Amino acid sequence: MIVIMKMKASESNIDAVITRVKKEGLKVHLSQGEERTIIGIIGDERKLERGALNRMDGVDRVVPVLRPFKLASRDFQPEDTRIPINGHIMGGNKVIVMAGPCSVESMEQVMETARAVKEAGAHLLRGGAFKPRTSPYSFQGMGEEGLKILAAAREETGLHIVTEVMAPEQVDLIAKYANVLQIGTRNMQNYALLNAVGKTNMPVLLKRGMMSTIEELLMSAEYIMSNGNHKVILCERGIRTFEKYTRNTLDINAVPVLKELTHLPVVIDPSHATGKWTLVKAASKAAVAAGADGLIIEVHPNPAEAVSDGEQSLKPHRFMELMTEVRRVAQAVERSI
Ligand code: PEP
Ligand code: MN
Repeated sequence: MIVIMKMKASESNIDAVITRVKKEGLKVHLSQGEERTIIGIIGDERKLERGALNRMDGVDRVVPVLRPFKLASRDFQPEDTRIPINGHIMGGNKVIVMAGPCSVESMEQVMETARAVKEAGAHLLRGGAFKPRTSPYSFQGMGEEGLKILAAAREETGLHIVTEVMAPEQVDLIAKYANVLQIGTRNMQNYALLNAVGKTNMPVLLKRGMMSTIEELLMSAEYIMSNGNHKVILCERGIRTFEKYTRNTLDINAVPVLKELTHLPVVIDPSHATGKWTLVKAASKAAVAAGADGLIIEVHPNPAEAVSDGEQSLKPHRFMELMTEVRRVAQAVERSI
């Protein structure tokens, strides 16, 4: 449940409510908005009598929260979460663009891509060093060597790095090189991994499971947040449907739905959502028009030779074109890029 304090509730009124809640062994999440404070209660609420809180000084009303996610819910925190990344704010007015290859393949490939996406206006560099592949015989990623290449590209371009972590035991290593930890679609419900990234202090890009509901995505965010890390960025990357023409189906509804349900930033991955480079620009524009806070896009200097996801990777000049058009859409919806 949440306790909505009156507009003129004092600090001591708020403290008294918190003390009362904690006495029952429950946790609180405080959201101090411009007008009023909301105290979210986490734990077995049966221990608390709703009437008792209702009667306390400064309390306006006590409202049950029926949804299973709490920390991630807009009821607990009406204001958008804003996550600072490399001098930009994820979850603010600016649309944050992450771009780069699916996989790190070589120093030259990453450097060339990083320079190109930076010039086009991207804010972060993406690239996988540990790759979750459907086949054990496919390229599995360059590992730590790949992370070093990403770090070298950051050194030169200033672009911060988003890269995937696949297992709890990889978190420390990847955290040494990355700025944002990516959880891939296949690991959205890897609870040990969610707990591990939840114990770091780094922004986490949490991709929706390809067969997961929006509520399941939010429950996974809740795992990360319940470990203390509230810097969660949600990513819709397409879901499986009966449609075969595209690799996945971009659930554009996820953007406004998530905006209703949660205060966390929402990013779209138009590359995996479509699986075809020809469709990436249209999906990116739709995402920004629908209110997405960011995009994560695959770019490769020579997609025909890419070791993974070449069919959906944009050449640098096409990415440049995309940025120009997406910028116009952003302006139309009063956002910047
Ligand atoms: C990726 O970003 O390259 C990737 C593997 O994405 P997903 O987990 O969404 O398939
Ligand atoms: Mn990929």
